[in-house]
Amino acid sequence: MLTNNLGYPRIGSNRELKKACESYWAGKISVDELLETGKSIRKQNWQLQAESGIDLIPSNDFSFYDQVLDLSLTLGAIPERYHELGKTNNTTDLYFAMARGAQKDGQDVVAMEMTKWFDTNYHYIVPEFTKKQAFILFSEKIIDEFIEANDLGIKTKPVLIGPVSYLLLGKEKEEGFHRIDLIEKLLPVYFEILEKLEAQNVEWVQFDEPFLALNLSTKERNAITYVYNEINKRFPNIKIILANYFDCFGENLATVLALPVHTLHLDLVRCPSQLDDILESGQLSESVYLSLGVVDGRNIWKNDFKNSLAIIKKATDALGQNRVLVAPSCSLIHSPCDLELETNTTTLTPEIKQWMAFAKQKLEEVQLLHYFAANETDVNNSIRFQENAVANENRKTSPLIHNEKVKSRVAKITAADDQRKNSFAVRRKKQIDVLNLPLFPTTTIGSFPQTNEVRSWRAKFKKGELTAAAYNDLLQKETEETIRFQEETGLDVLVHGEFERNDMVEYFGEQLDGFAFTKNGWVQSYGSRCVKPPVIYGDVSRPKPMTVKWSSYAQSLTSKWVKGMLTGPVTILQWSFVRNDQARSETCTQIALAIRDEVIDLENAGIKIIQIDEPAIREGLPLRKEEWANYLDWAVKAFRISASGVKDDTQIHTHMCYSEFNDIIQNIADMDADVITIECSRSQMELLDAFANFNYPNEIGPGVYDIHSPRVPSSKEMVQLLEKASAVIPADQLWVNPDCGLKTRHWDETKKALIEMVAAAQEMRVAVENITLI
Ligand code: GLN
Ligand code: ZN
Repeated sequence: MLTNNLGYPRIGSNRELKKACESYWAGKISVDELLETGKSIRKQNWQLQAESGIDLIPSNDFSFYDQVLDLSLTLGAIPERYHELGKTNNTTDLYFAMARGAQKDGQDVVAMEMTKWFDTNYHYIVPEFTKKQAFILFSEKIIDEFIEANDLGIKTKPVLIGPVSYLLLGKEKEEGFHRIDLIEKLLPVYFEILEKLEAQNVEWVQFDEPFLALNLSTKERNAITYVYNEINKRFPNIKIILANYFDCFGENLATVLALPVHTLHLDLVRCPSQLDDILESGQLSESVYLSLGVVDGRNIWKNDFKNSLAIIKKATDALGQNRVLVAPSCSLIHSPCDLELETNTTTLTPEIKQWMAFAKQKLEEVQLLHYFAANETDVNNSIRFQENAVANENRKTSPLIHNEKVKSRVAKITAADDQRKNSFAVRRKKQIDVLNLPLFPTTTIGSFPQTNEVRSWRAKFKKGELTAAAYNDLLQKETEETIRFQEETGLDVLVHGEFERNDMVEYFGEQLDGFAFTKNGWVQSYGSRCVKPPVIYGDVSRPKPMTVKWSSYAQSLTSKWVKGMLTGPVTILQWSFVRNDQARSETCTQIALAIRDEVIDLENAGIKIIQIDEPAIREGLPLRKEEWANYLDWAVKAFRISASGVKDDTQIHTHMCYSEFNDIIQNIADMDADVITIECSRSQMELLDAFANFNYPNEIGPGVYDIHSPRVPSSKEMVQLLEKASAVIPADQLWVNPDCGLKTRHWDETKKALIEMVAAAQEMRVAVENITLI
């Protein structure tokens, strides 16, 4: 029996890689210094894994930016716009130009697109393919890193994304072909890689084919069969591990079981039932090994040894010890690095900390599970086993986790709790009477620029260099100025600006019971950007109002409406590490009740318009379509619970960032927000088609300008977009607003853009009046 690891975090325990990359981009360190940092992180990671008793240690899991981009470079899939730049720059700069775009020395090349890696918060760089796409072995990174580890005395298992998943991760940049048709051109480069690795005496190679967890077409499934048969024909001596993660093989299982691979890796955290399915199918070939992903690579909870050992035993009983490998469920890049670095006992109390494990601790868990599985008799005498059992038992029964009041409130939820008192049509009339807004009302999405100054106040306050009163005064002043600016600009529905918030989830998590925070629990989100998700460890409740103070303060300054600003339950859930001892839907419902109370408190404080942001609702969709309905059912219900405690004339808004709505438009409508604002300007209002075709009944604010760029749009452009919008959606249903929050922008461009936006709305009003007069 062997231990197997699929990938290890490359950001470094103290985010060394982030710091090195950013210094390099800022011109502060040389390319050699940057490469040296990479080398030292790889060395540390390999040695750590070797010391932790991992038999199959991955290589090529390191990346300066993203492993999909690495592979595009390896395979020579470099879009044409970078070719010129590639001639005059070193490979590192070419690579970063693909990731981030390049604007220097008269060059101006845009970056490649970035999107989410399956249902994680990691973002990868999307490969671009043309009809005549050619592939060559452009970079030998994978071979170099194998040799580099070998020189350290560690024989690694190179990891690479399999050819089918690689193609499916990409996009066709022209019409007339499907990217999967490129498979025959692509495969020879994979052969070349394997030849070179074989020449270095490689024993194991891991191919990640995470698309096997999705619904594949017959053609795509056939491509899998073709690829792994061809590889086996040419390289019968390399032990190929085919790794799937994040869900079951589903209807791809029969295809997978017929493949001539050495080992199948299974994610038994996300899909525990598949081990039985495989063992009972009778289809598993006698020679195939199973890598059991029993340690959760995507969450921060300590493994339950008893439970995992039962799973491992089931497999060893059926297959014998030799044919079983013990592993994390997926690459550990989705876990923070090292729990030992969490030494601040006020942020993370010892009681909560003992329930957790980060990447380094997960390696240890894999090793221990392996040891116990191989030495059954020792288990009950082992201190490590006892410790694990005690921690898990403590977590099950801890009063920190269990709040009977919360549980009984959830149990008592009735059908009426997720329904507004009346239908939208009835509410709308009352809202029109009370709010008295013009046609094409203007508003923003919530945040105003988080300047360095605002950030420095927060940092000083946290360090104790600024008193609470002084910090509060500064925030009040900033809020007041923002209200005045919005009044002067003529916006109709104002916001307070969110200056008191660090992050839209963290701000709420810090005020809710059931949440804990780490000091160093960073996970790579994209490139050098890391996030530190809150940890939801217990039943969630709201000890006291969270936003009423700032919203009422802002409302007290003006006679215009100020919109209350909340993060919705699904987004809070989605961007946190969530407890695994109850269904996510249950946790989400608890958060929904806390937000519901906040909404009601805002209403009682005189706030008539309340926005509940749900930018993450679409990314929460399960990978397999057959699970969508169930997710959407509880997610939409959670939003409705949070929004439904108010009177008819209180207007509920929601906001979602760039999303494809076509396939979930019914569910978006079911959320029944009075107004939804969406990101539209980059797609030139194409997104609106979904709303128009569906006849979306409520009000919509299609973003009229892109806040991701400093560019100031003209009112003329925005009028054009609004005309496009009013061609498909009745004018009296439309709002005018930017794409998303303005926190990343500067004041200068923000002011100019909003003045143009208000002018655009005014022009639209005049145009509509003229039509009515005729
Ligand atoms: N209200 C938030 C803001 O304006 C919304 C951010 C988001 O959609 N991601 O910043
Ligand atoms: Zn947004």
